[in-house]
Amino acid sequence: MVAAISTRNLSKDYGRIHALRNVNLEIPAGRITGLMGPNGAGKSTLIKSLVGSLNLISGEIRVLDQDPIKQARILRKKIGYMPQEPALYMDLSARENVNFYARLHRLKNIRYHTEQLLTELDLGDRLDSPVYTLSGGMQKRVSLACAMVHDPELFILDEPTAALDPLLKRYLWKKFKELVAKGKTLLISTHLMDEAMLCDYVVLLRKGQVIADDAPRRLIATGNAVLHYYSQSRGWTETVPAEGRALARALQRHGLSKDITRLDIDIGNLEDIMVERLKSKGKERV
Ligand code: ADP
Ligand code: MG
Repeated sequence: MVAAISTRNLSKDYGRIHALRNVNLEIPAGRITGLMGPNGAGKSTLIKSLVGSLNLISGEIRVLDQDPIKQARILRKKIGYMPQEPALYMDLSARENVNFYARLHRLKNIRYHTEQLLTELDLGDRLDSPVYTLSGGMQKRVSLACAMVHDPELFILDEPTAALDPLLKRYLWKKFKELVAKGKTLLISTHLMDEAMLCDYVVLLRKGQVIADDAPRRLIATGNAVLHYYSQSRGWTETVPAEGRALARALQRHGLSKDITRLDIDIGNLEDIMVERLKSKGKERV
């Protein structure tokens, strides 16, 4: 695996609040990584340290093989960052906001670029509307366009889908998949656990600590499967690890029995597994 981002013992305190505690991560290149965790888990703090906008952090960070603070100028061209709160000029139009970023990046054909991008994000009929007249979901998309305008190789998006309606959410995930298909790397934070299955890799934060980081498929295998057996006269259940071998063995035990008239298998979903991990006190440290 080639890592687009790596951190070693990354910690950040705000006074007495330990927002990040010894975070060790490797975020794969060319994939979508979901940075998951409830509000206050440290997602935005982690993201801000990756884009070089936080100081007084301890530990090491490499982003596209560079130091985010010392090599900020190089990285600015390569990273598309969308902050949690849209950083837009409310009195300017959608087009003017994106143009502003396009000029910062010294792009050519700005007019064409901006129109194409906003149209792609389904804002083609609102190009000249002042941003304050746009809905929250539209403002999010303008903010995303600002992060995308210079065609960066790494996207770091802080809660891009929060508070969006389900259709729009699905539309944006389709866009994210298209970016990955073009070879881009995406790190997307979300507090919505149901978005985990859309990612190639998941990092789960709780109280500033990483409590899981893996491919969704592998995380699911760490959960349980509940087997519900039924015969003519009774029904019973058996709980086994969801990992392939244990499930196969459980089925083999009953495989040939003609008494069993029906079998249902519930494999815990990723959302359940992550919520369980968030509740468990395993790695707690105060
Ligand atoms: P998330 O993005 O996962 O909701 P944050 O990174 O915003 O979490 O916050 C992590 C913790 O750090 C929270 O306890 C939050 O209250 C605290 N925090 C974040 N920013 C600041 C700040 N500028 N000053 C003081 N505390 C902060
Ligand atoms: Mg946040």
